[in-house]
Amino acid sequence: MESCAFSEADVTIACAREGLQGVSDDTRKSLIKFCNSCGAAVTRRIPEGDTLERAVCDACGTIHYQNPKIVVGCLPVHGERILICKRAIEPRYGLWTLPAGFMENNETAAEGAAREALEEANARVAIEDLYTVYSIPHISQVYMMFRAKLLDTDFSPGIESLEVKLVTADEIPWDQLAFAMVKRTLEAYLEDRKRGVFVPRFGDIRPPQR
Ligand SMILES: [Zn+2]
Repeated sequence: MESCAFSEADVTIACAREGLQGVSDDTRKSLIKFCNSCGAAVTRRIPEGDTLERAVCDACGTIHYQNPKIVVGCLPVHGERILICKRAIEPRYGLWTLPAGFMENNETAAEGAAREALEEANARVAIEDLYTVYSIPHISQVYMMFRAKLLDTDFSPGIESLEVKLVTADEIPWDQLAFAMVKRTLEAYLEDRKRGVFVPRFGDIRPPQR
C-alpha cells in the first residue's frame, strides 16, 4: 500500500539520515549478559524447537526473547497547520520531528501517541486514524503514526523539546527533519490532503547500504 510518491533518491537520502541513529547491525546480537530471573550468565544458542539464536539461561531455563519495539506518535493538525517539535535530546538533537516515542506497557497505541504529544509538546490531541506504519528492521523498531486533531493552541515545549510550533506546508523545514519516517509521513499527508482522501500506508526504512 505504500505510495510511490517518493523517488528512489529521496528514500536513499532519508534512509541515510535514519542510518545515523547510531545503531549498527550489532543490535541483532543480544546485549543480554545475565539472566534477569536468577542472575546467572546466559549463553547464546538456538533453543529446542526454535529457529533463532536466543540468550538462554542454563541455570534456570529462562529464554530471554528480544523483539522489536513499537514507537507511537501522531501528526497533530490545527486548521491548515501541523505541529512539529525541535528535539532537545539525542539522537538528532536540534532537528524537527513529529511527537512520537516508545509505547509503554498497559497502554493502547492511540493512548501512547496522545501521551507523547502531551509529554513532548504539552499538546492535547484527539487521535483520529492510524496513518503510517514503518518497519525499521536494522534497529528493530516499528513506527505507528496517527493523524490527530490538535484540540487547542495552548502548547509549549516539553522536556524533550527545544521548541514547538505550528507550520504550514510551505514552512516545513524539510532539510532539518530528524527521521525518515517524519519526512515520509509529512509527504504522504500533504499529498493526501491535496487529493482530499487520506490513505493509510506502510513501508520499510532501511540503511542506504548493508
Ligand atoms: Zn536464570
